[in-house]
Order: sequence, then structure tokens, then C-alpha cells
Amino acid sequence: MKVMAQMAMVMNLDKCIGCHTCSVTCKQAWTNRTGVEYVWFNNVETRPGQGYPRTYEDQDRWGGGWTRNKRGRLRLRSGGRFTTLSHLFANPRLPEVSDYYEPWTYDYDVLLSAPQGEHTPVARPKSLLTGEDTKITWSANWDDDLGGSAATMQKDPVLAQMSDRVKAELEQAFMFYLPRICEHCLNPSCVASCPSGAMYKRAEDGIVLVDQDACRGWRMCVSGCPYKKVYFNHVTGKAEKCTLCYPRLEVGLPTVCSETCVGRLRYLGLVLYDADRVLQAASVEDPHELLAAQRSVLLDPSDPEVMAAAERDGVPHDWVLAAQRSPVWALISRFEVALPLHPEYRTLPMVWYVPPLSPVVDVVSGSGNDGEDARTLFAAIDRLRIPVEYLAGLFTAGDTRPVTAVLRRLAAMRAHMRNVNLGVEQDPRIAATVGMTGDE
Ligand code: SF4
Ligand code: SF4
Repeated sequence: MKVMAQMAMVMNLDKCIGCHTCSVTCKQAWTNRTGVEYVWFNNVETRPGQGYPRTYEDQDRWGGGWTRNKRGRLRLRSGGRFTTLSHLFANPRLPEVSDYYEPWTYDYDVLLSAPQGEHTPVARPKSLLTGEDTKITWSANWDDDLGGSAATMQKDPVLAQMSDRVKAELEQAFMFYLPRICEHCLNPSCVASCPSGAMYKRAEDGIVLVDQDACRGWRMCVSGCPYKKVYFNHVTGKAEKCTLCYPRLEVGLPTVCSETCVGRLRYLGLVLYDADRVLQAASVEDPHELLAAQRSVLLDPSDPEVMAAAERDGVPHDWVLAAQRSPVWALISRFEVALPLHPEYRTLPMVWYVPPLSPVVDVVSGSGNDGEDARTLFAAIDRLRIPVEYLAGLFTAGDTRPVTAVLRRLAAMRAHMRNVNLGVEQDPRIAATVGMTGDE
């Protein structure tokens, strides 16, 4: 066992409201410069959706996938390390600016000198058909708010004429938000892909950075990152990426995105991991074993054996204590409610997610209200609005069992907290589902 420390993050997706405050404050801090106008180190994607840059998850689009070198490190099948200029042309397809988004800014002269008008800056809701009970109303973000609701369909003559199949599809509509930063992977393919040795992973806390002096602008890291979280600055000709706000961390401050998150959904902290197990976990082929293998790389920071090994391997005692206090390991490995994004990429990402349970509809009484007690929560767990298969495609390489287990646990916790708040006696099924003792 070789114990190393890593800064990691867990995001609770049920709490994200898609306000993009994290993206904006990150941009103000890190990419508010020419050359990186299109860059969002932190972005928030609406799911289902194409992501940022668009279709970044379609790995075939970006060079035909991955292979491993003899040491198990990921590298591009058609690229990777190269020694001659001709290899440059082996760099797989890079995203174009239109795959990110076209940067724009306000014309401040017009903004400040424009005459007072009647229009509000936000689009007013519009009625496309009028008449008694026959309005179709539409406005900004209307789909997010009302898409496919039964009430909308009943009042809407156009929707009412739709086939049952279309209505059923609308009833199934769902969405949620997925904030993303660089994963600061334990097995970073951006580092393995860099021919200049400019990309590196800091030994002390695992943050992945670009040495701006060493970067030669080959952009193999851009192709090489399966999460597309390295960006090219077209003015400096260098690669740039999320730094996990290391200058702030070094003086005891959280990352900008964590500090400004409106939903308070980002848990940032140190974890300890076994560096000797990283490549083994990255080599697991069976999708059903990926999650367990990647979880097993993280070590219990309160285990005396791990603490002794950490001291032997030079991890400062303060950092071990910090890892013990951090909720990150507990959420990932103790309570097993956090999952990695696309573990099948095998870079061992270190930003994990509590998947969204979302409002649970009361299917017991059929009222359509939110189900918040244990009876309605457990009855609805197999009929959640967000398909388990979709979440499994994001977080467990398609294996639905661990996702269902997490959702059951979240439902149990929601029911437990409801009972606590109402002063109601606990339902023993809740403790059994959560798998905890009374103290926890
Ligand atoms: Fe590198 Fe991409 Fe992993 Fe970040 S997410 S460490 S850029 S491979
Ligand atoms: Fe979601 Fe927090 Fe970002 Fe708002 S600030 S979009 S709540 S992660």
C-alpha cells in the first residue's frame, strides 16, 4: 500500500438549481481573459442534453477511443506520446469553438444609452392560442418548469389531441442539472497524452495542472481528456484547465465554485488513496466491477493501518485529520451514496455525484403530490421520474443496481428526516434500508 492524499469533491445533484452562479464566478476568477472567452472551467449542463462541448461523451467522435500503454496508463489510440512532427497530424479531431459556444458580450454603449422602453429584459409569457381554458403559454425556461405536466395537457387543445403515445412521452419528460469541473483524475489521461510533459499531477494533493512554460500547444491533452476539460488558449497558444483553485486551497479557502454555490451542494475535501491500486482499478473491464474497484482505491482515513501507512509515506498528520473530518470519503465509501461520472473512462475521476432522487410522486394515494413519507417513497422507488437506466449510463457504466441502491438510501434518508422533523416514531424499514445503526 502506498498512501497518497487527493483533493476531491462530491456534488449532491438534488440540490442544483441550475443557476450557473458557480460558472460565472469561476469565469470571473479564472477565464476572464482574451483567448479563453469560450472557456468555462466550471459548466452546468442540462440533462439529458448534449453537454459542453457538445457530444463530448461520444468518445468515437474524438479519435476512436483509448488504449493503454505497458504501464496501464491511458493514451489515445491514434495519438498519445509522439516524437516526430508527423505525429502531430495523428492528433484526433479537436472540438471547434462551435462545439463549445460562440462567445458574446454586451454592447455596453447601447446598453447604457438606450432610451427607456416598456419592455422588461426578460421575455414575458406568451399565449399562442386564446379562448376559455385554451391557452398555450410559453416563455423562457417554460420546458424546465412545466414541460409535459398533466395540467398543461388537459387545458391545451393541441396537446389534448395528441396520441396517447405522445402524451405518455410528455408525461415521462424529465431533466436535471449536472455541474462539471475537471475531475482531477487519479489516472489522468491528459497527463498521459501530453508529449511535452507539461501536464502533471501534484504529488501532495493530486491537483492536475499545466506547466505554462513547458506547454508547446500540441493539444493532445484536449483530445486526451474524455471529459473534455482541457482548453486551448488561442492567444497564448497554451493549454489551460481548472486548477481546483489551488492558490485559494493553499491559504485555507474553498474553491470559488464551492464558496459561491447557491445550493450549497459541493462537498470539498481531502481523501486518502492507495496509489498502488490505481492502475489495477483502471484496468477492470467488467462494467459491474468498475464501481467497486474504483471505490476500493479510496482508503478509510480512520483505519489505524491506513494512518500508520500515511505517516510512513509522508502524508502530513494534519492532512490525515482533515481527511477524517471531510465528508467526501464517507459519502463515497461509507454511506455509498456518491457515484463517479463515467467510471468506464477509467481515469478514476475524483469528482463524484449524489444522483438526483428528484420529487417522488405519491403513487400510493394517486394524489400526484410529492411522496415524502416512508410508505410512499418506497412504493415509488421503482417508478421514479428520472429513469434509473439514464442515471446508470452516467454514473455506473450502465449497471442499474448500484444506482437503485443509492436512490433507496436517499429515499430512506428523506423519510427519516421527515419523521425527525415531525417528531414521529421511526419506521424500522428506514434503518434497514439505510443500513445504519441508530447513532448514524
Ligand atoms: Fe485530465 Fe480530463 Fe481527468 Fe481533468 S478530467 S484530470 S483534464 S483527464
Ligand atoms: Fe448548481 Fe450551485 Fe452551480 Fe447554482 S451555483 S448551478 S446550485 S452547482
